[in-house]
Amino acid sequence: MDHNALVNALQSKGNLQHSFKTAEIEQMAAHMSIETIEKEAIIMQKGEPADSMIFIIDGLVQILDSDRQLALLSTGDFLGESLFSEEATRTANVQAVEPATVGRLTIHDFHHFLQDSQALAIRFRQYFQAIGSARAQQVAAENYVDSKKYLALIAHNNMKEGLMEFCDMHSDKLEKFPLIATGTTGSMLYKKTGLCLSRKVASGPLGGDQAVGTLISTKNICGVIFFRDPLSSHPHHADIEALGRLCDVYQIPFATNPQSGEAILDYLLSGKAERELIPNHVLKAYVQGQKKVVEAG
Ligand code: PGA
Repeated sequence: MDHNALVNALQSKGNLQHSFKTAEIEQMAAHMSIETIEKEAIIMQKGEPADSMIFIIDGLVQILDSDRQLALLSTGDFLGESLFSEEATRTANVQAVEPATVGRLTIHDFHHFLQDSQALAIRFRQYFQAIGSARAQQVAAENYVDSKKYLALIAHNNMKEGLMEFCDMHSDKLEKFPLIATGTTGSMLYKKTGLCLSRKVASGPLGGDQAVGTLISTKNICGVIFFRDPLSSHPHHADIEALGRLCDVYQIPFATNPQSGEAILDYLLSGKAERELIPNHVLKAYVQGQKKVVEAG
């Protein structure tokens, strides 16, 4: 494999070709070495000094964080632009999924490039720095962890008026929580009571109840006030059941009428919810059991 293949790869994808002329890409490529990587070989290790960039000529390479695949890269992709960042350490592992050929630009190669053609080398550095910070922002957005503990408000259609009256009556207490609601309930809430939501999910029958359930599993719900209609049937019965079940799994206070709703508000505001009142025996036993399943496997 020669440097022509490297130059072709560098021009095959992305906007490197829009920012640099072929002759300029050739000048940078001339400073790189070409390497063959075996299948499954680790190319970069998290935490190591970021002392080189890799440009894929052919083959498939994956970026891994523990057991999670962050990206799958192929011909024309490049990685390791943290070579030009402040931290200058690798932020993830990189492994060849299949045999690969890559061009490598080490810090020494870059210094030679600087000596030969300073202005061009600086342009390349600025380009890779810009790509690096855009990627870092993307990773930060993807890894954003919401730490809020929402109070969920939901009501079936025949119960919405009752929930609005309840919320109006207790608005001073409700204002103390980040509120989340299903679609229609949420829209009515602001209109009828002026209470603002921190987050809104889809309408209940369209997955909203399941979305609140997901937030219970990520420990983002402190309580659920769900005025269920006991006198009519609902197409999303299974979702309503599932939401109640998750409240039991995680010991989340779950109120289904105004009286229990008021009790929940007072309980949550008392601060007692911060500690576990009675150990969650079933949840602990389940988690232990699943650990054994993984160990046995
Ligand atoms: P809605 O959903 O607030 O969008 O009406 C409530 C539900 O039926 O679960």
